[in-house]
Amino acid sequence: RTVYVNGQFVPEEDAKISVFDRGFLFADAVYEVTSVLGGKLIDFDGHAARLDRSLKELGMGMPMSRDELLEIHHRLVEANGIEDGLVYLQVTRGAADRDFAYPAEDTPQSVVLFTQSKPGLANSPQADQGIRVASLPDLRWDRRDIKTVQLLYPSMAKMEAKAKGADDAWMVEDGVVTEGTSNNAYIVKDGKIITRQLGTEILHGITRAAVLRFAREAQMKVEERTFTIEEAQAADEAFVTSASAFVMPVVEIDGEKLGDGTPGPVARRLREIYLEESRKAAI
Ligand code: PMP
Repeated sequence: RTVYVNGQFVPEEDAKISVFDRGFLFADAVYEVTSVLGGKLIDFDGHAARLDRSLKELGMGMPMSRDELLEIHHRLVEANGIEDGLVYLQVTRGAADRDFAYPAEDTPQSVVLFTQSKPGLANSPQADQGIRVASLPDLRWDRRDIKTVQLLYPSMAKMEAKAKGADDAWMVEDGVVTEGTSNNAYIVKDGKIITRQLGTEILHGITRAAVLRFAREAQMKVEERTFTIEEAQAADEAFVTSASAFVMPVVEIDGEKLGDGTPGPVARRLREIYLEESRKAAI
């Protein structure tokens, strides 16, 4: 596999990052994951805009222009023959002697991109079955709107959810659901789509923005507010969204089946609309 590291396209075994890199030592880094369908990027501009925002929130700037970034994405997709899959991008504050204080402003950032091939990404059998989620406390820091690589707690929560026989966790804080470990969470009641409002408590999902836009365009009702696990268990359906899972139905919450335990019509329809519209707009 060819990867990109600091200006160069190299075989993955030749890619090198310093042991002093702040991404490695302090998780002082942000990332993006853009999906690829039919060899094209889904919502590249949404991801580029969020990258810019995450970097700014941490006092960093974009390492290069949107066009240069796009060019690297395209070159990697092509070099690795990615039909369906994803492009991962990470930008760190760079390498410097280990110190909690940030290094000098002119310290070069580290920029790494790689691809992952996922044949049939849009036809995952999981989407036909739906996933089960287990609730766990949300123990992350409170700037989840910044897409940092501090992913240890979400990783632990995913393992705990699996140990409970579920596929993923829905994290709960102050009695209400924040989001999934790597996705935004939704319930559907009486035809209305309910999802938590944006704030620092959740990541501002690129897929979330697109799905809510498509839902409103299709005259579906959308309510952005918090909900509890109990309300979710009493809902007609539930689902999650992310760049790599698109719209994924949720059929069970803490062992309680939703409806008849199969993916609901709203989730299925939104998945179809999302995939169709995103493929059309892919670049
Ligand atoms: N929330 C969290 C915590 C995530 O990690 C992700 C995936 N990166 C999402 C939501 C979904 O965001 P997106 O639709 O931009 O992939």
